[in-house]
Amino acid sequence: MNFKILKKSSKSRARLGFLETEHGVVETPCLVPVATQAVVKTLESKEVEETKSQILISNTFHLHLKPGEKIVEKAGKLHKFMNWKKPLMTDSGGYQVFSLGFGRDFNSGSKFSLAPEKSLLPRSISAGAQPQNIKINHDGVTFRSPVNGDELFIGPKESIKIQESLGADIIFAFDECTASLADYNYVKKSLEKTHRWAEICLKSQKSKQALYGIVQGSKFKDLRIESAKVIGAMDFDGFGIGGEFGNDKKKMGEMIGWVVDELPEKKPRHLLGVGYLEDMELIIKSGADTFDCTVPTHYARRGIAFTSQGKLNLKQTKFLRKNEPLDKGCVCAVCLNYKKDYICHLLKAGEITGMKLLTFHNLFYFNTFVESIRERIKKGEI
Ligand SMILES: [Zn+2]
Repeated sequence: MNFKILKKSSKSRARLGFLETEHGVVETPCLVPVATQAVVKTLESKEVEETKSQILISNTFHLHLKPGEKIVEKAGKLHKFMNWKKPLMTDSGGYQVFSLGFGRDFNSGSKFSLAPEKSLLPRSISAGAQPQNIKINHDGVTFRSPVNGDELFIGPKESIKIQESLGADIIFAFDECTASLADYNYVKKSLEKTHRWAEICLKSQKSKQALYGIVQGSKFKDLRIESAKVIGAMDFDGFGIGGEFGNDKKKMGEMIGWVVDELPEKKPRHLLGVGYLEDMELIIKSGADTFDCTVPTHYARRGIAFTSQGKLNLKQTKFLRKNEPLDKGCVCAVCLNYKKDYICHLLKAGEITGMKLLTFHNLFYFNTFVESIRERIKKGEI
């Protein structure tokens, strides 16, 4: 992989670039749609391409469970398996250390909505604490398979090995994604592990895939900076920025900035799992080159369309009387061919095509939005 920076903004940390991979070039900044199980839910790969998506991210943990990386490898690796010809990323499984660990204990699969006030559990996670369903130790993490309950161990070596079998263009080091409730000492201890595992990942890699190290450190400035310095000094091809960024949007930009300022400028930076439409400009201005997010696809399956008029819930009966496209300015195949009344009808009738049409539109809409931000960087407006 080769990363070329074409332009750096004089107004922010934003930059325009090219990520060149064996499977083509990605223009950055770029949204990375999520294909957890080697599929963008409801769409086939050809359709995803038509949404202007340039690169996808699949989930190492889930593909390890189902169908297993050996099956994918035998099929000619991920690109062939899912008939996706453009670049691909796989995450490391580190996020599942959170989502199946403390995330589950606190009744939430999302790092942004832990709600301790609603549970009997403590309000913070201290050093030495262990989640109920997984065990995090020196060498890695012991999970219980959500598929059959079997115990399974993933550490840095295992994660890299699985990702090598899957064969994405860009892979990530195995880390511990800490919960927002983790206190300072917990995060400090956790960083020692994440940093040690990063070195093991580098040493154990045999493939030529681009390997990104992941910076953690939660909301603590000195830990974020320390992590960025340590990971940034290692011989990675790029860097992921993971974990907690707080609910305060302004703060999020500042926190990304702490990390970005410490990372080697010439290497690409990927923001893991963040990307609400309203956050994108800020994320890009903070210096992220790529970012993955389930928002466009996840919301689509719940009946939500993103438009220039804001978020619309197409399940609302009033849309049965709207014979107009989802967005009058959108030129996606859905907006050119279908109207709100029909999509509303499909959703109400429980027809999966309703979800599919919204997924297509939302991805196209998000990608067009990011394209317009690239244009604005080019013109020196951002
Ligand atoms: Zn559209």
